[in-house]
Amino acid sequence: MKNFFYETWAGHVAPNLGRAVEKIGQAKREDVLSALNNIPATQDGFLALLSSAADEALEKVEQAARGITEQRFGRTVNLYIPLYLSNACVNDCAYCWFGRSNPAPRRALTLEEVEREAACLRLEGYKNLLLVSGEDPAHVKVEYLADCVRLVKKAGFVFVGLEARALRTDEYRILAEAGLDSVTVYQETYDPAIYAQVHKTGPKKDYRLRMETPDRAAEAGIRNVAMGVLLGLGDMRFDAVALAAHVKHMQKKHWRTAVSISFPRIHAAPGGFAAAHPVADNELVRLIAAMRLAFPDSTLTLSTREAPALRDRLFGMGINQVSAGSKTSPGAYSLGGGEEQFPVVDNRTPAQVMEAIREKGLEWVMKDWDVNMWPAPAEKELVDGNNT
Ligand code: SF4
Repeated sequence: MKNFFYETWAGHVAPNLGRAVEKIGQAKREDVLSALNNIPATQDGFLALLSSAADEALEKVEQAARGITEQRFGRTVNLYIPLYLSNACVNDCAYCWFGRSNPAPRRALTLEEVEREAACLRLEGYKNLLLVSGEDPAHVKVEYLADCVRLVKKAGFVFVGLEARALRTDEYRILAEAGLDSVTVYQETYDPAIYAQVHKTGPKKDYRLRMETPDRAAEAGIRNVAMGVLLGLGDMRFDAVALAAHVKHMQKKHWRTAVSISFPRIHAAPGGFAAAHPVADNELVRLIAAMRLAFPDSTLTLSTREAPALRDRLFGMGINQVSAGSKTSPGAYSLGGGEEQFPVVDNRTPAQVMEAIREKGLEWVMKDWDVNMWPAPAEKELVDGNNT
């Protein structure tokens, strides 16, 4: 099937990325300061903000990102939590403990177990939930995922996302009808050679299938798509520019679907796998600030993979959504979990994270969206009709 982004990517965007990376290397402090005077950042401004020259003006950059975050989202940080449905997986991603070559026991929660986990998280006050599953089409079927979405919505979650295998448009449509609000799909890296090295087997090795997943989710009517790269796999500058191009494509082609951006970073991985392009803290800060200044209205999300001190610094500085109290194995909240998908570094309780947010002069919120804010089908047609 012809896909506009993929064709543009292969024919135009990818060949120009080398030039963009070169420009990042040439940027000067003046370019960074001039980028701050022109928000949303232009393409050249974004490149300057990604450069090491931004470190020379980091205080000003952080201040600008903090200002835009407050202007667009208020002094708030939205909280969410992941619920792992299954750790079974047919892929073998080099950086993940759920890869099929890991002999750890596998488990997919029954609907009764999902209900128990969800009830436990509702007691903590969470209303924004991310369902997570390894890629196991034989056991984690679309009908099961739809049942899980309906079940957790009934349990009181108002915003439900899903991070699972790449599905077809008709499958996403079933999930949208069940009430799914968001699909999380990270390209991991946009560098095709590195992508092939770390995804040697299983359906995930299909780079193009993965790259077109946000399109399919949006076409199915999913109202939010969360995108990102796994920082450390590829050259951060290359991946950041590619991700920005992908986000722009989504905003242009699927204007009814919001795009949020996440910043997962490799800290530890199984079998001694080491990040070939480790990303330092200051580079992560720069990247988040650059994304905020380029995409002022997009939700920027940070997980518990990062250490408490760095997370505290980033609350409100670009980041407006964080997880807290996360556990990354199925059944871990109420049934006793097993080996985690990745090590959680911020192990604070939700209450401790809330306190840290408050200490920054911000408010934590459990609910920042309601289905009534989304146009009913008739109104939606009217809105669409007025804009096409
Ligand atoms: S990253 Fe996802 S697809 Fe890859 S091994 Fe882990 S669970 Fe499976």
